[in-house]
Order: sequence, then structure tokens, then C-alpha cells
Amino acid sequence: MPVIVTYSRNVFIPLTRTCRNSCHYCGFRKNDGRVMESDEVSDLLKKVKNSTEALFTFGERPDEFKEVKEWLRERGYGSFVEYVYDMNLLAIENGLLPHTNAGVLEREELKMLKEVNASMGLMLEQAVELECHSESPGKKPEVRIRTIKDAGKLRIPFTTGILIGIGESREDRYYSLEVIADMADNYGHVQEVIIQNFSPKEGTEMESWKEPELSEMIDAVRYARKVMPERVAIQVPPNLVSDLSPLLDSGARDIGGISEVTPDYINPEHPWPDLKKIERSLNGRYVLRERLPIHPLFVRERWYGEKLAHLIEAYSDEEGYRCLK
Ligand code: SF4
Repeated sequence: MPVIVTYSRNVFIPLTRTCRNSCHYCGFRKNDGRVMESDEVSDLLKKVKNSTEALFTFGERPDEFKEVKEWLRERGYGSFVEYVYDMNLLAIENGLLPHTNAGVLEREELKMLKEVNASMGLMLEQAVELECHSESPGKKPEVRIRTIKDAGKLRIPFTTGILIGIGESREDRYYSLEVIADMADNYGHVQEVIIQNFSPKEGTEMESWKEPELSEMIDAVRYARKVMPERVAIQVPPNLVSDLSPLLDSGARDIGGISEVTPDYINPEHPWPDLKKIERSLNGRYVLRERLPIHPLFVRERWYGEKLAHLIEAYSDEEGYRCLK
């Protein structure tokens, strides 16, 4: 029997590229103070035909900038999180399940967004301090760990992961995975752990850094599978790795979100691969199966609130995967 590897179909909504952090590898941040208007979000949502996930990814705490604060004030919002809540609701009205990556949040903010998100995410990246994060207050390990724990206390299906090749040692990676495994064990809310490889971006401080070797990715996937509870899926990004097979052979079982209408705004130089081509390359040993932004196990255990129930129940089959009727 071929082994199931999951993915979701999404639309990527970069609400703003303004961010209080300044990570040395980042090609996403622009700090132009621009925020997508609700009309733009609505237009984008209307283009979606066959996806279930509205992926909201944007800079952390953009409302620390006065242009964004003013933009929000003019539209009657007291904070960026309030605006995100409304855009999440808009996605639900358009038949999509939000998954929000907002960066570090306070517990009350997580509680608010839980109502309108099928799942949420925050990459731990590494649980140790690194030079590339020296100008990023939101990348302090203890601050990110607190947010991930708070999400656990609130029972939010959660995505986290590590970024490999940003100056950490092999021991640092192992330690970071152990920190995630501990939280996954304690709260049961971690649905997937992404093992993501650093990819250099032109014009950044780290543009001449080398990408990690495939062997380092394999090593991290193996260790993640060894230390994570069974309910946690190990995810690898199909547009960033040269060969999926050895990573799946090492225990990865998810390839994340793939978009029909939008690029990977974080890694725009790496287009989404064709799903049929991926499946062919796996030679029948693995079969791709679509899931929702909330993983099948969490669908079956009903980790979702009433604002999302009608969509999750319409879109999922009895095993919690995407229903294809
Ligand atoms: S937090 Fe994200 S968006 Fe902000 S600078 Fe770092 S990588 Fe870029």
C-alpha cells in the first residue's frame, strides 16, 4: 500500500510587508507601510476556485509603525489583529478556512483569532539566539516559545518548525526540535512541524550564504520524526528542496500548502511544483492526498469552533481529509 503524503490547496494573502523585525535573510519585508485593502483581499478571495485554505502571512506587529497605525485608525481599527480578524471573517464568507501566521501574539490576541482560524502558525526557527536575529525582537526564542505554548493552552491546531542553515549548529537543530516536541507532548496542539531550508535572497545580508545540503535536511527530518509525538506530521517544502523522496523516506509526510492563484511570497524565485509531477516522481511508493489547513486528526477530534464548523464539515470526509465529492 502506498503511504499517504498530505498537502493543502491555498491562496496566499500577504496583508502587509511591514514588519518590526529585521531578519538578515528576509526578502519579504518592505516596510513601506502598505496594507492590503479589504477590497483587494476580497478580489483575491474571489479568484479562488478549488482551494480550502486562506493563508494569511504578513510582517510582525506592523502597527508599531505610525503609517500603519494611522491606516488602521482611519478605518476604525484599534490594532492590526482586529483588522486580521475581519479579513479572516471575509475569507470564511468566501468559503475558505483561514490559517494565520501573525508572528508573536499575546494570549488574548490568539484567543480572538482562534474563533476565525482553522489553524495558526509560528515558526520557532531555532530555539537559540543567532546573529541573523540580532535586530529582530520577535525572534527571541523565549518570546516565540511563549506564543506557541499559549496557543497550546488555547487548543489551537498549530504549525511550527525550524529553519535550517541560518548559522545554527547540528546540536542547535536537535535542541530546537526537542523544545517543539516537549510543547507538542504537553499540549497536543502541534499538527505539523516544518523542516525548512534557508534559501538566500538577493540584496539581503545573507545573499552569499550557501543553502544547507540535502543531507542536513534528511538528518533533521529523521531527528524530528524520532522525537515528535506520532500525531505530529513532519512537513517539507516541495518548492525548496531538490528531491522529496529521501525526505519522505526519512519520515516526512506532508508537503504543506500549494497555491493555484498566488506565488510563494516568501520565496518567489521558487514556483510551486506541479502536483502530478510530484506524484509521478514518487514512483507509486507515496500517494498525495489533499487535507484542509486543519490536519485530519484534528478534524476528527473536532478542534474547531462554531464559526468554522459548517465549512470544515462540508469539506472533510469521514477520515478528516478533503472530501472530493
Ligand atoms: S519576521 Fe518575517 S517578515 Fe519580518 S523580517 Fe523576519 S522573516 Fe522578514
